[in-house]
Amino acid sequence: RAKESGKNRYHLFDPDSDQKAQRQREIISRLHNALQNDELTLYFQPKVDLRNGAVVGVEALIRWQHPERGLLSPAAFLPQVEGSTAEYPIGKWVISTAIRKASQWLIEGFPLKVSVNISANQLMHPEFLNDLRLALAEHPEVPASHLELEVLESVSISDVTRTVEILAECHRIGVMVSLDDFGTGYSSLTYLRKLPVDTLKIDQSFVRDMLTDPEDHGIVNAVINLAKSFNRQVIAEGVETLAHGNELLRMGCHLVQGYGIAKPMPGEEIQTWIKYWLAQRNWECI
Ligand code: C2E
Ligand code: MG
Ligand code: MG
Ligand code: MG
Repeated sequence: RAKESGKNRYHLFDPDSDQKAQRQREIISRLHNALQNDELTLYFQPKVDLRNGAVVGVEALIRWQHPERGLLSPAAFLPQVEGSTAEYPIGKWVISTAIRKASQWLIEGFPLKVSVNISANQLMHPEFLNDLRLALAEHPEVPASHLELEVLESVSISDVTRTVEILAECHRIGVMVSLDDFGTGYSSLTYLRKLPVDTLKIDQSFVRDMLTDPEDHGIVNAVINLAKSFNRQVIAEGVETLAHGNELLRMGCHLVQGYGIAKPMPGEEIQTWIKYWLAQRNWECI
């Protein structure tokens, strides 16, 4: 139904949205090409244990090395990928590439756990579990427990039963699961108790301001205690300073990830970074 007046007036044929659809088709076709041409790449950000400095794993974060626009971060293209024909192939590529990298590190004497971000549509895709098994089977030297899936807390609300089934099957395969951006997804406690996840990942928006904003501090504290009550691990993302790390440790959260430890980096740099990190012993200042 067409509105007659106001800014929201629209027509049966809207040249604006037609142009938008055209741009969307272009970027998706470019992304399919990017996948073929090796323009997609993974950066990795370390996760550490502040009690002893141990590097407990790395999170794989996608980048697009665009031939004209340079290195693009997910915010520049993932929103367009979502719901498109490129979403599943890209997600599948991320999983295989992360496992291949884990295998390489393992062989080189750095047995690192790798986390990958999984979109809601990807998790719900009919081939997801099958492809996950196949990807792991390509590298039998990599234990399934070295792979972790980061699933958004909000992912599952729409179909709880199916989400529980899929995540439970991931567990049977031996893969770990964490709830990303925890605290932003409105999940209920009953629901959380049912969900087969190993780790709650406190959203960076709460961590960022926790030292100055008592409410954010309260939320961080509540999530840490929630994890404890439900016998789950907890990790804080967006840890930008030693002071954040210090307070998190005091509150009982020893696993952290953030610019204060290291920014995401190309896979080739991880080993050098680990040696540097272990030599610096920065966490001892905490
Ligand atoms: P996320 O999974 O919550 O990842 C954390 C994001 O925060 C990353 O941004 C990371 O670079 C950034 N970050 C880490 N530490 C800090 C910090 O101390 N301060 C600040 N300000 N930011 C920090 P990135 O790489 O741009 O990724 C953004 C989001 O894109 C990710 O959020 C994730 O939801 C999504 N994403 C990234 N890679 C993939 C992927 O391969 N597949 C899917 N489905 N989503 C992905
Ligand atoms: Mg994540
Ligand atoms: Mg997150
Ligand atoms: Mg996020």
